[in-house]
Amino acid sequence: MPLLADVAVPVPLSQAFTYEVPAALAAEVRPGARVLCEFHRRKLLGVVLAVSERSAAIDPSKIKPLAALVDARPALPAELLAFLQELAAYYFAPIGEVLRLALPAIEREQVRALKAQGELGGVLDLGRAKQVGGRKVAYASATDVVEEPGTLRGQAAAVLALLRANGEQPVARIEERFGNARSALKKLAERNLVTLDEREPPRDPFFRRAEERDVPPELNAAQAEAAARIDAALAALPAPSGGGEHPAIAGQEPRPAGQEPRPSAFLLFGVTGSGKTEVYLRAIKSCLDRGRGALVMVPEIALTPQLVARFRARFGDELAVLHSGLSDADRHAMWASLHVGKVRVAIGARSALFAPVPDLGLILVDEEHDGSFKQEEGVRYHARDMALLRAHRAGAVCVLGSATPSIESVALVRRGKLAELRLPDRAHREASLPEVSLVDLRRFGAGPSGDPLISLPLHRALEKTLAAKEQAILFLNRRGFAPSVVCGSCGTLTTCDACSVALTYHRGRRRDARPPSPGGALAPDAPLDERPEGGRLRCHYCDYAGPLPDRCSSCGARNLLLEGLGTERLEATIAGSFPEARVARLDRDVAGKDRSQAILAKMREGKIDILVGTQMVTKGHDLPNVTLVGVVNADAALGLPDFRASERGFQLLVQVAGRAGRRDRPGRVLIQTRNPEHPAIAFAAAHDVPGFLEREIRDREEVGYPPATRLALLRIDAVDEGVGRGAAAKLAAHARTCPEGVARRVEVLGPSAAPIARLRGRYRFRVLLRARDRGPLRGALAALSGLIRDGLDRNARVIIDVDPVAML
Ligand code: ADP
Ligand code: ZN
Repeated sequence: MPLLADVAVPVPLSQAFTYEVPAALAAEVRPGARVLCEFHRRKLLGVVLAVSERSAAIDPSKIKPLAALVDARPALPAELLAFLQELAAYYFAPIGEVLRLALPAIEREQVRALKAQGELGGVLDLGRAKQVGGRKVAYASATDVVEEPGTLRGQAAAVLALLRANGEQPVARIEERFGNARSALKKLAERNLVTLDEREPPRDPFFRRAEERDVPPELNAAQAEAAARIDAALAALPAPSGGGEHPAIAGQEPRPAGQEPRPSAFLLFGVTGSGKTEVYLRAIKSCLDRGRGALVMVPEIALTPQLVARFRARFGDELAVLHSGLSDADRHAMWASLHVGKVRVAIGARSALFAPVPDLGLILVDEEHDGSFKQEEGVRYHARDMALLRAHRAGAVCVLGSATPSIESVALVRRGKLAELRLPDRAHREASLPEVSLVDLRRFGAGPSGDPLISLPLHRALEKTLAAKEQAILFLNRRGFAPSVVCGSCGTLTTCDACSVALTYHRGRRRDARPPSPGGALAPDAPLDERPEGGRLRCHYCDYAGPLPDRCSSCGARNLLLEGLGTERLEATIAGSFPEARVARLDRDVAGKDRSQAILAKMREGKIDILVGTQMVTKGHDLPNVTLVGVVNADAALGLPDFRASERGFQLLVQVAGRAGRRDRPGRVLIQTRNPEHPAIAFAAAHDVPGFLEREIRDREEVGYPPATRLALLRIDAVDEGVGRGAAAKLAAHARTCPEGVARRVEVLGPSAAPIARLRGRYRFRVLLRARDRGPLRGALAALSGLIRDGLDRNARVIIDVDPVAML
């Protein structure tokens, strides 16, 4: 019988293809390895899913041999490969696309080897694979050898002491500190006290400076209890195999059947500033001590340099930091060091989920409630949900951490799937949760600035903060200068041509944020010609940017008004009202690659008095001198047509409030709203997270939304409105008549136009499937996937979004 390989190729099809393994490659072709294979007369890079000796199910003469093997050591370890296949099945996503999420770039050496075999001549498509390789950097590390006492002097002794204290270092970094580093290292290497090796450099900003090792603080009682529970779960894991081949994958059950499993997945529910990070650090240490690797996922790593610094201070450079700012070479170097087991801890955003961490023992998801864990394009996976799945399958421990846990995670606690660990108090002895007051905007008018969104209480609070030489954060959910441009004569809103959304006016002058006239903001209704030049209208949903027209497109009146308050205008208004204050802004418009880190660093150094910004200011920053947080308009997020609007608004409020008073000085939070009775606002003001969760879960149960039910959203779009509507109608009808639909195990809602009915020139429709249980929902989706593949107008695009998050 021939040796056959099932190969996934990077095409949007869900099945794998069968190839014959040539005898010469029989010993080396293993699951997870990349191969070159012929596909419709092109050569594609595929991944072997399985190899077996069997008779082919199709005509043997149609089976082609594999053209070449790319990886001698499988690029995807067994544990990761199995997980990716399960992820693809869960999301009804093409396996080839899913694998691509996890595959590393191809090393130039591999390409050279293939060229030498003559494999890269002719038609070639490496399936968008990137190529890396090149410059190497020298590293020095101390060995275990002990020197003869008194034989080392001067720089040689100092360099050795540095390496012993801080772990290995790039030689270049040692040279910065010691003039004779080269000769000192040579001497040390000759005596076997130091080893030198060459490798691809981490040129990443996170590694630019050496981080001093820290001394772990003593845990408080709640932290100690949480750490002990996680440690016990780690202790219960089987010993690592060392080869990446995990018992769960090899078909053995990790636990004896019938025995009540120990909890191995946790929700770490700790108030802001309660010291969750310290618990993570202990958990990783315990995991490493047991010979296993750990994976840490954080929402937006560019915004968390402080967190990364704390990890580096504890674990040194033995930490792979994965983020979108990495060059291909850096990313590959990180990937490779994990893959060969040289580095055992990876930290990164959503996509770190696919890091080839060796002998995975622990996955941590920090700020697990954060929306950024859901990928909203391509394979629409949720990294938090999949972290639980990967950990479970790998027999690893999973810890989800948050001060404002997601409703989903809380539901898992109630169903006994997650064990809850609580940190009820702030870690710093003197720190307490800030005092929150609501400012009812219906009762308070504009303060001295003249802008109705800067009320008198907020103005006074800012004055007090500045007088005390403390810092303030003002949070506003809208970027740009004015969120809408409206005709003062006929009321027409200026919208994007390609999207059914309002255009935002951006003034876009970054350097000088102060308005032309001191003491006042631009009056919202000032006629156009008094407004500064150079502004642009931008669409926040597509790339459109254009000039501000001088007349209304509908009635022609020269009477366009800039309405509403965005962060740009807020910054200008605050700078005008507090001329002595140093005001800065943090939002996506100013945050280039390193800019956000620079702004946060300035904030930490006390060089900014008032920081104005969007969600970016709410994320986990530990800024000791911030004593005032102002939420300028709490209502902005609560009115969205999305069943999670209330939950998200609540999380934002609690998180941003959590930036205040993190040390000895008490913090204060002002929340401005027209809707003080809204539960998200009332519970946030009372710091009552459990109360909110309780109520929200009850509300969801009543209206039948997750976690009480499960959803799948079919997203349909087309350039032609009729085509889109037609496809949506066909899908909805098919869903209603499939067995699960007929039996009413799956409820079909729609077709309907999406809340944003047009986006980037395409009309959008949707069909929502809802079920009590996952099984029937999967049944219905399976019934629909055939129709989606070849039963609809080719001009309509359909995306299956399982467990959707973005409902707009
Ligand atoms: P969280 O991640 O829960 O918001 P952090 O981990 O940032 O909280 O901790 C808040 C602050 O408390 C940090 O400055 C941290 O160094 C400090 N901290 C944490 N644990 C302890 C402890 N056991 N003793 C003293 N300080 C601690
Ligand atoms: Zn647009």
